[in-house]
Amino acid sequence: MVEGGATAHQEDTRAGWSDSAARAVLQLMVESVAEMVGFEVAALSVVLDGNLATMAYTGPEEFRDYLSASDPVTVLDPVLARAESWGRFRFLAAEDYDAATLEGHWMVVAEEQADVPDAWHPMDVLVGLLTDDDGRLVGAMSVDRPVSGRRPDPAQRRLLERYAAQAERAVVTAFEREELVQQVAHSEAARRLIRSASMPAQASLQAVLDHTHGPLVEGFGAAGSWIQVLDPESGGVGYARTHEGDVVTLSDRMIDLAHGLAPRLWEAQQVLVVAEGVEPSLSAKSGAGPLLEEARRQIAELGLASAMAVPLGAGAECLGFLVLSRRAQDPPWSSVEIGSALQIGYDLGAALMTVLALERERGLVRELQQLDDYRSQLIATLSHELRTPLTVISGNLELLGDLDLDEAARHYQVAMTRGSTRMQKVVDDLLLLARVSDPQHPLVRVPVDLHAVSRTTVDLLASSALAKGLDLRLQCAPDPLLVPGDPAELDRLLTNLVSNAVKYTPSGGTVTVAVERRGDDAVLAVADDGMGISEEDQVGLFRPFFRTTNPDALREPGTGLGLTIVATIVDRHAGEVRVRSRPGEGTTFTVTLPAG
Ligand code: ADP
Repeated sequence: MVEGGATAHQEDTRAGWSDSAARAVLQLMVESVAEMVGFEVAALSVVLDGNLATMAYTGPEEFRDYLSASDPVTVLDPVLARAESWGRFRFLAAEDYDAATLEGHWMVVAEEQADVPDAWHPMDVLVGLLTDDDGRLVGAMSVDRPVSGRRPDPAQRRLLERYAAQAERAVVTAFEREELVQQVAHSEAARRLIRSASMPAQASLQAVLDHTHGPLVEGFGAAGSWIQVLDPESGGVGYARTHEGDVVTLSDRMIDLAHGLAPRLWEAQQVLVVAEGVEPSLSAKSGAGPLLEEARRQIAELGLASAMAVPLGAGAECLGFLVLSRRAQDPPWSSVEIGSALQIGYDLGAALMTVLALERERGLVRELQQLDDYRSQLIATLSHELRTPLTVISGNLELLGDLDLDEAARHYQVAMTRGSTRMQKVVDDLLLLARVSDPQHPLVRVPVDLHAVSRTTVDLLASSALAKGLDLRLQCAPDPLLVPGDPAELDRLLTNLVSNAVKYTPSGGTVTVAVERRGDDAVLAVADDGMGISEEDQVGLFRPFFRTTNPDALREPGTGLGLTIVATIVDRHAGEVRVRSRPGEGTTFTVTLPAG
């Protein structure tokens, strides 16, 4: 008898069988044959990848060892060449062949010939060939060591034939089931991979298109894949690739075809299989007849045998078209695969929906960014343009002031000087804001002593505080407090906060500037007991050109840009600014900056 074991490359396939119920059925089969027909040894092998792999065995334990060896199906050839045909079984009598011609793991499981008429010879071979509906060999059932010691009589042969027929059915069914299980496993694996490919981490349209090809062609055993995105805003991107990943250029007619078929399929919630001899499932009333004809032509032109077209969508919207193709030698699309493909249409559709929305959002952010850049640039250019004529005006007004003017003329000159000074302040603030907001102008950090900057600021503003009858105090340690940053910007930050406190605190008040280190941070607090800021005003405080509704505050000259500059500088230094205030009681601005 012959036995084949599994080789390493068969392990995967056989593993599928080992835990299947099919294997138990086959075991029962060999045990029945042995018992009912009267053989001590019976074995059943199935053909996997051109090799015979034993799935069931009954007989003495010592022969089980042979099962681990492997034999190609061709091991049966010498037997088939000479054996006598008994229906499915082939009987090769010991006297009809030379044992040396047999290759592979033919076992001699009986040592002695019984002393009976028509005795079974240890070298006799009796093997049943199990084939599928197309006559392809799917397995072999061999028996040995008849209990009677004799070669099978006609009654036993009939019984053997009956068991072989049953075994054949069992093997074919098991193969079909196994194939089905594997198809499900493959298409499920494809689904899982597609889901992971569409995770937000890599959520760009390109990434989804790139990552889904592999799982799709592998999972479906396809010759190639084509995904066409129908989104008009992204320009209808599409990629067709061969199994190996080479890009295939598709004709405009193919792309038109996708646009024609996909929405119809999505509406019908259908997968379309286009192949020679397969009646297309898309209903005729959808008006897709000419499209289907065209699809057939295109598939043939690409040298393919069949294609499965899957609409991709979410909700009512059809977003794309997926096509998987197969060649002539590949199996037809099974109903499991078609069902799985429709599911993938939903998964991939949802993924496309997400990435398209994200891409649109990104586009919008880019546009807004561009608009913002343009606005900053416009402001910067305008401010530059205004600066020169303003300097000329201010210079001439100053010269005018030196002249001996009559009272009315002097009055005009003073008003114009006030106006031009204010304009100059706005232009200067705008220029500074444009500079600190410009992404092309990165922050260059150097260690800046915040204690020293605070001292300088307080010294500079001391005279205006004094003139207003304010008590301006500084609380800071004598040793340096280093902060990595731009010295000019940090100086400006302090000046704006302290000058606001001086400006918005009535005579007799106190302004305190306190700087200290707290853990890894430098904390700067500018506190006053001035007019304070209402809660509503606190909300818009850092917006450009924000001016309060408080009439007392409005009396003070200002551009409404000072706090915007503060917030922008703090932001550039990875810090934080907070305001705490109560109308009539005072205001404290607290800035926290990472210290060096
Ligand atoms: P401005 O040039 O008007 O001072 P800012 O941006 O510096 O512009 O300030 C915006 C507004 O915030 C001011 O008009 C003022 O109403 C309010 N403000 C700022 N600092 C204080 C403060 N220390 N006390 C009260 N109000 C303040």
